[in-house]
Amino acid sequence: MLHILTCYEGQDGMKKVILLLVDSLMPHLLESCIQKKSIPALQFLKERGRYWPEFVTVFPTMTASVDSSLLTGVYPNVHRVPGIIWFHPQEQRVIDYWNGWRCAWKLGLTACTRNVLYHLNENHLSEGVTTLFEELEDRGKKTASINALVHRGRKKHRIKFPFLLNVLSGFRLNGEISGPEILTFGTLAQNNLNRAIPRYLKGWRKFCGFNDSYAVQAAKTLILSKDQPDFMLVYLPDNDHEVHKKNPDHAERSLIRVDRHIQELLNAFGSWEEAIVQCVFIIIGDHGQTRIGPNKEYTINLDHLLRPFRVLQLGEEVGDHDLVVCNNERSAYLYPLKKGKQEEMVQQLMTEERIDLIAWKKDRGVVVKQGGSRGELYFAPGGSHVDIYGSKWTIVGEPAVLDLRVHQGTIHYGDYPDALSRLFGALYSQEIPMIVITARPRYEFFCRYYPKHLNGGCHGSLHKYDSLIPLMIAGTEHPINEPPRLIDLKPFILGLFETVSPMG
Ligand SMILES: [Zn+2]
Repeated sequence: MLHILTCYEGQDGMKKVILLLVDSLMPHLLESCIQKKSIPALQFLKERGRYWPEFVTVFPTMTASVDSSLLTGVYPNVHRVPGIIWFHPQEQRVIDYWNGWRCAWKLGLTACTRNVLYHLNENHLSEGVTTLFEELEDRGKKTASINALVHRGRKKHRIKFPFLLNVLSGFRLNGEISGPEILTFGTLAQNNLNRAIPRYLKGWRKFCGFNDSYAVQAAKTLILSKDQPDFMLVYLPDNDHEVHKKNPDHAERSLIRVDRHIQELLNAFGSWEEAIVQCVFIIIGDHGQTRIGPNKEYTINLDHLLRPFRVLQLGEEVGDHDLVVCNNERSAYLYPLKKGKQEEMVQQLMTEERIDLIAWKKDRGVVVKQGGSRGELYFAPGGSHVDIYGSKWTIVGEPAVLDLRVHQGTIHYGDYPDALSRLFGALYSQEIPMIVITARPRYEFFCRYYPKHLNGGCHGSLHKYDSLIPLMIAGTEHPINEPPRLIDLKPFILGLFETVSPMG
């Protein structure tokens, strides 16, 4: 059957698309650096393209749940990846995609590595959804994933660990993972691209290739190969580590380094002008970060707060426990294991004023309270209220709990962008009873073995500080849903490659 390419770009065929996912890229820092003229590549793309400083990401604002939504275009209630750490009721164990060394150590280094390498893409990400890679490949497009955490595609790739790690793990980590036609997962996925990258970017100290320099070299090699994939997702992780350490107000140097990498990619086309003639560039963050206070006062110790209950400790087998706590930095999932205990737990959580929101499931909807206050809001999908994204809701109680403003039947969001869909998405990512809590700005949750970020940055909550990220699109005027959310990016990118069959 004959297909005609009716590309929005006119008759000169479709452009290639490069999506750069910069971990913890934040709009306020981006804008202040552009004002100081310290990030010329990002400035060029912003000035020559379109820019949205309030692009709404997914809740929990953690890379695993965010990337799953980016690639599938749906919230966690559909794609089923609840966060970076969560409780698996059938397997009766905590699933961790490596939230710090000490957590992984307690839960088993091999088990956590297998979660990231195999289970996230092959088992946890719902079979009922398709990824952007899968859909583009089904349409005959060539795609590449450079170091992205979520990369499910139609092709199988062999994973091979370095000899020493193989010995330490008893050779249990080698195997096959699915991905797009071209896949790098640090140096672990076996391919020709890996060989083209200098050795010094691939060693232990460089996290076996999980670094910005490796990713940019891989992307550059593909651009210069004259066989650049139609769509390429390039994940740049380094900025996240810096912002955690330095806090969001002092991470300028990190962003300057990111910009140098983007310059390298643009330079690969001969000129920056030529780059946006040949390609559509999309730059996004995955979540923001909030500056955490300088001392212990700013960590909400859940081990202490939940002392009246028998909490499962990391590494323990599930037995006569009351609950499991899975701490996603500035949010946490609590899973009551015994009937009738949830109410008692909520009462205990309500005594802590540094907790921002406490939410749980009720009658196909969600109840939300604020820590330390009496106000309560209930909401459920379907009803007479419509939010600014066109979703319908029933709301009962005090809209102020989620900083909602209802004007002539329309729900507008304040401090918690897209709060209803995002909170619902998190709580219905699993079918078991669960409570989700978030920390007030400047605070984070802490449990034994979990990482702390005092005086640094941290994320995970529903608040706008963690939730609003920049979106930059250069090289196309193709429309995107407005106001845009992360889940709108998949249909936008598919739209860039639309083909239309002629009549008959
Ligand atoms: Zn982070």
